[in-house]
Amino acid sequence: MQIHAAPTRWTRGHGSALRLAGVFLSVTLSILCVGTFDRTEGGNNIIWLANGLVLSVLLLVPRWRWPLYVSVAFVGMVTGSLLIGETPGMSLLFNCLNLIELLIGAFLLKRRSTELPEFADGKYLLRFIGFACLMGPAVSGALFGIFQHVRRHDDFVNVMFDWVIGDGLGIAVVTPTFTAILRSRMRNFHLLRRRWIYLVMVVVVTIAVFSQTRAPLLFLIYPFLILVLTQVDLGWAALSTLTVAVIGGWFTVHHSGPLALATGVPSEWKKAILQLYVACGMFTLNSISVVFGSLKRTQNQLRQIASLHKLVVDNSRDVIVLGDLDGTRTYVSPGVKALTGWEPQDLLGKVFREMIHPSDLAEVEMAMRALRAGSDGGTLEYRERKRDGEYIWVEGSLRVYRDPATGRPVGFLNQVRDITDRKRAEEHLQSAYRAMETLVVVDALTGIANRRRFDEVLSAEWRRALRESRKLSLLLIDADHFKRYNDTYGHVRGDSCLKQIAEAALDVVLRPSDLVARYGGEEFAIILPGTDELGAKAVAEDICQAVRSRQLPHEGNAPGIVTVSVGCATMIPQRGKALQDLIESADQALYRAKGRGRNRVVVAGLSTMPRLEESLSATSLLEMSKVRTGGESE
Ligand code: GH3
Ligand code: MG
Ligand code: MG
Repeated sequence: MQIHAAPTRWTRGHGSALRLAGVFLSVTLSILCVGTFDRTEGGNNIIWLANGLVLSVLLLVPRWRWPLYVSVAFVGMVTGSLLIGETPGMSLLFNCLNLIELLIGAFLLKRRSTELPEFADGKYLLRFIGFACLMGPAVSGALFGIFQHVRRHDDFVNVMFDWVIGDGLGIAVVTPTFTAILRSRMRNFHLLRRRWIYLVMVVVVTIAVFSQTRAPLLFLIYPFLILVLTQVDLGWAALSTLTVAVIGGWFTVHHSGPLALATGVPSEWKKAILQLYVACGMFTLNSISVVFGSLKRTQNQLRQIASLHKLVVDNSRDVIVLGDLDGTRTYVSPGVKALTGWEPQDLLGKVFREMIHPSDLAEVEMAMRALRAGSDGGTLEYRERKRDGEYIWVEGSLRVYRDPATGRPVGFLNQVRDITDRKRAEEHLQSAYRAMETLVVVDALTGIANRRRFDEVLSAEWRRALRESRKLSLLLIDADHFKRYNDTYGHVRGDSCLKQIAEAALDVVLRPSDLVARYGGEEFAIILPGTDELGAKAVAEDICQAVRSRQLPHEGNAPGIVTVSVGCATMIPQRGKALQDLIESADQALYRAKGRGRNRVVVAGLSTMPRLEESLSATSLLEMSKVRTGGESE
């Protein structure tokens, strides 16, 4: 009676009344049964059911319902007593004492309204024996002893002792039994349809054991009770135990069964031994049921985890592959069918190598070797062959899994994901980037024209100068000791210095047809179409000066500030000459500027044109350079 109403409307409405009626009936009937027994034998009760029954009900229902249940039980008890022929006065007296007895047990055992009996729990069992089986019966036994002593001059101790033995053992037997029966609510009735044979076996064995007096075969009964417990449930096992008590009791009072074999033992003691036998049986069943219950719960939890796990794995778009450290697959999740067209069983027991693209095999083998060597795993991308021979890109997250006991790696787990779409998108992106790169003409760092733009413009200007027989000048500018600059001030300041040099050059170069470009690294190039040597040199000197005037500190450079060296070359393009010659001669001039101490301009002398030194008077050059830059020049 772990008394939750059944979920139908009718039982919800009438459940409480039904339960109360059930308590009333079972209490009355139990007294009738035992009382009838009593009369046929004319001795003490074999087993007093009513107190244990009511106590088990009280232990199961919330405390606030006790008044109702106790009243109904009391009426049932009095009714039963009257029906078996007790006088009204004695009936009231006995049942008041019974009530005191079981209320002491109930109050002391159920400290909280929600506390439920756990007879397999050692502490609870001790409290049960102490409070319900000893203290309750002792108090009411003492009261009855006093009453009998006063009324009939009976020996107080004897009366009380009889009461304690009778009621105490009764409660010890009946309460755990009824608790189990009420708690199970005979829910597993359906099991009984197939397993009724176990109950029949208990009855047959009990009759066989108790109906003869040749051999003491009491031990035969317990295994059959345990069989009922394991095959049906605790409720039915408890009911079977009660049946054993009733059958055993009947035979024992009729001087048959194993207890009749004990000669010289008073019949009161034989009944007590029988009750102890039943109580021990019930305790054994309770303990086994606790172990079974916890096993069942664990089993259910495991089953739940397993089914949840299966649900996740089966429905995952990723394929889960387990294998041993040699790479032989031991498990492949069903998702592999959608990914590759293979059935999981096609792949089991085979090594991973067969399906991997030859170009990616080395990388995967290396990852496996790393796993074996103790790495925890990682992610890698490779191509896997589908059933139809086509390859798809996948991403495998490889993890090692270890023996929980030893911690040693025993296999690998690979979570495989289809990344074909991602790969395709990446390839599109890369080709788009390459296409875009061909369109970009601006240097990202300095914002001036980049090398590609420089090449295009120089070649166009070369052709135009060729057509028009015009002079074309080229300046190559290189920052002095720039490696040291980076080493001293770091690359970030190095970059910002390069920007300043580019700005300085832009400040100087004004003609729309001129182009300032980043030639590469810390080198810049300036194309000056239609500009002669003199003009080119003047621009070069101006750039040197413009950089110097920014006064950017540079410890590693002799002047203590950032300076540049410039190589100038001028040409009138002619057939049979290459653009490369112009660049090379500017480069040589730059090399010479570096060699002569840096921070200066050197103008190339080309064989195809009059040497600069010849065409320009040294004085006019000197004057110009003084006027324009004030810097060192050659
Ligand atoms: P010098 O030209 O005076 O002979 O000496 P240098 O130290 O400038 O020699 P070199 O031309 O060999 O070194 C070029 C250095 O310029 C190397 C590198 O540290 C630096 N550099 C090249 N490109 C960049 C860039 O984009 N940013 C930065 N911060 N430094 C660059
Ligand atoms: Mg350089
Ligand atoms: Mg340099």
